[in-house]
Amino acid sequence: MYLKRIEIYGFKSFADKIDIDLLPGITAIVGPNGSGKSNIADAIRWVLGEQSPKVLRGSRMEDIIFSGADSRKPVGMAEVSMILDNSDRALDMDYSEIKVTRRMFKSGESEYYLNKTLCRLKDIQQLFMDTGVGKEGYSIIGQGRIDQLLSDRPQERRGIFEEAAGIVKYKSRKIDAEKKLEQTIQNLQRVEDILSELE
Ligand code: ATP
Repeated sequence: MYLKRIEIYGFKSFADKIDIDLLPGITAIVGPNGSGKSNIADAIRWVLGEQSPKVLRGSRMEDIIFSGADSRKPVGMAEVSMILDNSDRALDMDYSEIKVTRRMFKSGESEYYLNKTLCRLKDIQQLFMDTGVGKEGYSIIGQGRIDQLLSDRPQERRGIFEEAAGIVKYKSRKIDAEKKLEQTIQNLQRVEDILSELE
């Protein structure tokens, strides 16, 4: 699996639609200060479901929508797509190309799409779980992240190893199963209460 292409429209400094094709090998993005290099990494974090404006270097999520410049009016929505080559089926979807899209309007509502089909944020999170690509993954190492990892508590550092070992999805399924079990126990107790009232 590899990232083939990023399409950005209306996100931060990108008022016009830009398509970035990433060829196999190493790609370096260079440019003067403030030209939008970090905004590209922010766009990838965002499309993967980032919910924290702070992580995206803003104060409100709406700050990610292009807010206008000297010669340009603000735009009403932002859209970012990541196109991944999945010929090796590393992602659990039977497609050799996967397009993940997030769209956000000024109202703050986000929409997510997988191969142009509307989906939930959870579907995107589950798709990338244990691949290292997700928002909690280790594929984007931002400035200061290594220092933070070294000074993190061991429990937090362990999360990175769990993602690499591929057990995050099982932990997440266990939490879901425990919630369902708890709900079922409560339902059973209610049934028993009703039965004892009827007797
Ligand atoms: P450096 O090399 O200094 O780290 P950079 O190339 O990584 O810079 P970024 O931090 O990606 O630059 O981009 C910062 C630019 O993005 C600033 O000029 C800022 O005004 C612009 N910007 C951020 N959010 C928005 C927005 N919502 N609308 C318009 N422009 C924005």
